[in-house]
Amino acid sequence: MICNIEEPGFLNESRVIYGFVGNALDFRLENKVARKELLKYIPAYFNKKDIYIYEVKQVHSNQIVALNKDFNMNDINYYDGLNLAEADGVFTQKPGIMLCVRTADCVPVLFYDRIKRVSGAVHCGWRGIYEDIIINAVNTLTNHFHSNLDDVVIMIGPSICKNCYEVEEGFFNRFRAKNALNQRFFERKINHTKLYFDLKSLLKNELNLSGFKKENVYDLNKCNFEDKNFYSYRRDKTDKRQVSFIMMY
Ligand SMILES: [Zn+2]
Repeated sequence: MICNIEEPGFLNESRVIYGFVGNALDFRLENKVARKELLKYIPAYFNKKDIYIYEVKQVHSNQIVALNKDFNMNDINYYDGLNLAEADGVFTQKPGIMLCVRTADCVPVLFYDRIKRVSGAVHCGWRGIYEDIIINAVNTLTNHFHSNLDDVVIMIGPSICKNCYEVEEGFFNRFRAKNALNQRFFERKINHTKLYFDLKSLLKNELNLSGFKKENVYDLNKCNFEDKNFYSYRRDKTDKRQVSFIMMY
């Protein structure tokens, strides 16, 4: 497991754990065994019977799920994978729920409000960001959980970097049409024959514009396309996925 973001010391005292697991675990949705194996990454002093894994279906939407303190995991039959919410992010105030996000190029983004005690995990692909999933995440934090964004720490996990994410002209035009300023997240290389997209910088810009403090955003700075310890859909056309998780206790 990789968990070496240079982080503020208070996370150690905040009764929250998080991690980015590489290809040691294939977390694609139909792999039930991986869900049990994930608990191995939780320190032994936890009572693992009390830990629930929660995931959303991840449909490249902008939808966020909010789980209140009284949420009962027994209400959903998790392991059949059928009842998962059609969404791409989840936030909760309930300790003992391990929020998971599956990726293989897209950006896993973990949130933690250390004052209101809210954790969150969001799957940020280009489509979700284009359709303002960050704004929906902010609305969930502020309207539903009454978070002050200054108190929220964000961890960005393994994802494709700007040197590896080649895109087409139409893709570029789509983002430019939405906001002309988006052009700065694209770069032409090799005598202008290739176009590359900086998804993570766009994400960080959206986080900043939405009100999160720059100094509260931590980036693992790991490109899953370059590092073979991670799955990459673009590199290998694989359906395997790595998991990033966060849990309050
Ligand atoms: Zn890269």
